Amino acid sequence: MRQQTFFGPTLRDIPADAEATSHQLMLRAGLMRQTAAGIYTYLPLGTRVMQKIQAIVRDEMNRAGAQELLMPAVQPAELWEESGRFDDYGPELMRLNDRHDRRFVLGPTHEEVITSIIRDGIHSYKRLPMNVYQIQTKYRDERRPRFGLLRGREFIMKDAYSFEPSEEALHKSYEIMFEAYRNIFRRCGLDFRAVKADAGAIGGTGGTHEFMALADIGEDTIAYSDQSDYAANVEIADVAPPATEPEDTPAELDFEKGWTSGEELASKRGLPLSAVIHGHLYYINKAPVLFLTRGDHKISDVKVGNYFDTLQVEEASSAQTEHLFGAAESFIGPVQAPTDVKIIADQAIRPLTNAICGGNQTEAFYLNVDHRRDCEIDAFADLRIVQEGDPSPDGKGNIQFAEGIEVGQVFKLGTKYSEAFGATFLDENGKSKSLQMGCYGIGISRTLAAVVEQCHDESGIIWPKALAPFDLHVLMINQKDEDQSTLAENLYEGLQAEGYDVLLDDRDERAGVKFKDADLYGMPIRITVGKKAGEGIVEVKDRKSGEMTEVQVENLPAYLK
Ligand code: ATP
Ligand code: MG
Ligand code: MG
Ligand code: MG
Repeated sequence: MRQQTFFGPTLRDIPADAEATSHQLMLRAGLMRQTAAGIYTYLPLGTRVMQKIQAIVRDEMNRAGAQELLMPAVQPAELWEESGRFDDYGPELMRLNDRHDRRFVLGPTHEEVITSIIRDGIHSYKRLPMNVYQIQTKYRDERRPRFGLLRGREFIMKDAYSFEPSEEALHKSYEIMFEAYRNIFRRCGLDFRAVKADAGAIGGTGGTHEFMALADIGEDTIAYSDQSDYAANVEIADVAPPATEPEDTPAELDFEKGWTSGEELASKRGLPLSAVIHGHLYYINKAPVLFLTRGDHKISDVKVGNYFDTLQVEEASSAQTEHLFGAAESFIGPVQAPTDVKIIADQAIRPLTNAICGGNQTEAFYLNVDHRRDCEIDAFADLRIVQEGDPSPDGKGNIQFAEGIEVGQVFKLGTKYSEAFGATFLDENGKSKSLQMGCYGIGISRTLAAVVEQCHDESGIIWPKALAPFDLHVLMINQKDEDQSTLAENLYEGLQAEGYDVLLDDRDERAGVKFKDADLYGMPIRITVGKKAGEGIVEVKDRKSGEMTEVQVENLPAYLK
């Protein structure tokens, strides 16, 4: 490819609204442009990398025995009503009507479509197990699309679905996919960890793991042991709380009116009531105690380690916080002071809510507030269940924390969808059974951004070899110099004939501009054809190590191998 006419516009300045490094670099290096919030156009460089990731994913999926197909992005609302997710999925689900006023959704995931297809297509154990996958555009109306491709509203996902005759067979498929995922992320050059996780809106009860690319910008925190394989998303981390008393406990606070009910929160956020956690933090005998209700459910048992007393709240209704307060008081004695915290405290609260809600994913966690107190955040931090250096759950090593980007997740769904859709088969004995299912997602576009997040320096991207948009970047320093232009053209043709993907900078630009753009683009190997072209000498630079070597052109093919 000749750079003269290549569409890879670079930016010198850091785009003002791009927070994440990958977002900045992908805009600056001309990999993509934003078309709407959370919706991007992939330019040729971005498209090339995306294709390389997809090729790796296809290769590993095919090896794992999965078959590629392609489902529609537009799905009839009825399918989502059949699974119950038309309501449960909440406002992230993009909905639309056609000209006849028929209702549709833009698929955020495809369990409904595939289960209905398999229901009609597979009837006997003889056709099982079956594993199918697609690479396709997904739509989720994220509340906060941000960090470029890391959290888009339109993004590219690989999703696979497996169908098995038994739980043991599902377990086996899961293991195979798990291994394929490890291979994929390793081949993409990512530093990652597989962690135990929460099933979220996909649901299922059979267990799930997330694959986390380690990066500070990551929105998830993982707890892992420094001496064993233990690793879990702190959302579900089953580790003990620290045993010490909080130093700073709030003094007396006024108790005022002004509680928000769970119903109000739900309708304000456009969430189903079941997705709202309603909570209140009190200090009782200097120990923080958290009261929680989930939507309209009654939550009667809060038991979270030393900091927390067990509360039996007979009739906790989220609509009536005062009622909850009163019920708690009658059980536990006088409440010293309610403390209010403005919003969600994710890591700190999620383990608590999970402990209470049996691991069911919730959309929002609210601590209700109508008081203020300077120490409310400190008090809150004390609620953190896991602390760095704590012993870990499997008895080996100490807990460490890291931030991670969720690049993939594998789920054992069990019969959640097959039962909803009546997807059954006849076993060896002619008995009708529900299919066991697994599903397996990889954010292709998010993986791309995660790679950039991990592989860069202050000058630009440093592509791992397997994903680089071009293998070699040949720089013709002065295209008016005949030695240089002849040699660069010969190299361009010759190296392509050797099977390399080559980008030739043949632009009428200053050398400085060419070098800067080359570093920003980040191809693994740069070959500069400059002043020594007449002697048949070029300069080869390794982008990662920065090492530069002068090489005689006839030795170049051997040198590059
Ligand atoms: P998150 O927790 O980040 O919202 P998720 O758990 O909702 O992700 P899954 O339903 O597990 O996502 O989807 C499978 C994969 O799709 C994720 O592991 C992630 O890599 C990718 N993905 C999900 N949401 C987005 C998004 N908004 N933008 C880009 N990729 C996404
Ligand atoms: Mg999500
Ligand atoms: Mg997630
Ligand atoms: Mg997930």
